[in-house]
Amino acid sequence: MGKAGSSKKVQRAARAAASSRGTGERRERGFPLLVLLIVVLGIGLVIAARASRDELVAPFLEDHWHLGYEIYDCGELRPALLNEAGGDGIHTHGDSLIHVHPFNSSATGTDADLGVFMEAAGLTLNNDRIEAIEAGFASIDNSTGCGDEDSVIQVARYAPGNNTDPSTIYPDDFSQIRLLANLEVLVIAKIPVGGDMPTPSQTVQAALVTHGAGLNLSSDAPLEFDPTTGAPITGEIIDPDGDTTDDTGTDDTSTDDTETESGEGSGEGSGE
Ligand SMILES: [Zn+2]
Ligand SMILES: [Zn+2]
Repeated sequence: MGKAGSSKKVQRAARAAASSRGTGERRERGFPLLVLLIVVLGIGLVIAARASRDELVAPFLEDHWHLGYEIYDCGELRPALLNEAGGDGIHTHGDSLIHVHPFNSSATGTDADLGVFMEAAGLTLNNDRIEAIEAGFASIDNSTGCGDEDSVIQVARYAPGNNTDPSTIYPDDFSQIRLLANLEVLVIAKIPVGGDMPTPSQTVQAALVTHGAGLNLSSDAPLEFDPTTGAPITGEIIDPDGDTTDDTGTDDTSTDDTETESGEGSGEGSGE
């Protein structure tokens, strides 16, 4: 009896040991698998967030915005930059405007900044100087001041339709300034320290009114202009889907571009 009992005990103990060993092995295999799963899921989420990040914020690839920009040297308005190099699709056509119709994702969303424009236009802009590679642009050097006053180089943002009060004044890091909306204006200026930033000129306002109608606007573009009065029309948003059927993204073939940018010349065959 005692023998049989103890042998059963041994068997039970062996079974228990085997089963607990089994659980232990499953646990040992399961834990690294769980960690791996979490790591894979985490990486996947990061990649997904990166991929979709630019798609959450305008401008998108199908957009075509116009922002005004001007350069002032101690109160004197400089002529518009003429360098029409296409870059990544944020560039000028010599018309006092920054055309924003991104060619690729390095010029969309949060990457659509003044730095992309500066690169295309050959513009150097920092706290020391404003320089352009094109012939005829005399460098603006901050160290010479304005008259007998010390000077500072700044950029002011004017929201669409507001040509009197800048919404933001940027003291540095100009290349990081984001292009936020169709029809806003960025004024780049060397001014006396403590002075007011210049307001957008009639020239740039007129250029925006001319270019402001009939273009592809993202749903978060804040407003449109009345082409006759130049007054902002709030709440009117052009549906990008209704407007982009023939727009391949390069915009040269797009009818609304040729209509609204007739002044840009028919000769521009590549990279408008
Ligand atoms: Zn344009
Ligand atoms: Zn263009």
